[in-house]
Amino acid sequence: MSRTLLVVEDERPLAETLRFNLEMEGYRVRTAEDGVEGLSMARALQPDLVLLDLMLPRMDGLDVLRGIREQSQAPVLLLTARTSEADRVKGLDLGADDYITKPFSLAELKARVRVHLRRKQDVTVEERVLEFGASDDRFTLDLNRRLLSRDGEPIALRPKEYELLAYLAQRDGRAFTRDQLLNDVWDISFAGGTRTVDVHVRWLRKKIENPDGPPRHLITVRGAGYRFER
Ligand code: CA
Repeated sequence: MSRTLLVVEDERPLAETLRFNLEMEGYRVRTAEDGVEGLSMARALQPDLVLLDLMLPRMDGLDVLRGIREQSQAPVLLLTARTSEADRVKGLDLGADDYITKPFSLAELKARVRVHLRRKQDVTVEERVLEFGASDDRFTLDLNRRLLSRDGEPIALRPKEYELLAYLAQRDGRAFTRDQLLNDVWDISFAGGTRTVDVHVRWLRKKIENPDGPPRHLITVRGAGYRFER
């Protein structure tokens, strides 16, 4: 069955170029020209993947993303001319899966679309629950329900906080560089963007570490990156 892609882009020539090229790849492509239309189409169509411009009339791309994430885990790739790290971090924090900075090559864009669709397809249902922490401070990470809880109480996580924690916790003891984490958890590799990883580690530590002592689970590996210890 052919996959449905939604392109939310107000520059009509670019939207049409994307539509033409993605249809050539065999996808069903729908386009929206502003943020309000984009969000309502995302809700109505339930597309398999969304290409989302950040600078949109009527509703900012980040607000569209927030609205999509309230009811869908479909991959969202941001198309943006913005280069500031703050916007990238904000977009990723809101649950975007990737960033493509304009101008981009169509070959690269098509490759990234393929990767994200395949990744979605590869997600297998694992009946797995990871536990970590001391007996008096027990954390449970439910990989099916994407849920972290402490002594039975759910802890709210941002989408990428969850994904980073799940990635490290499933590979406990192994050290990963910031670049590796950025590539594997965010699927992007942009210059200077590794601070995103540090920011998410800092947020996670506030939720799972004892504030009075050194981290016991999310360990900094000097000169390398991070590793997880149960
Ligand atoms: Ca725009």
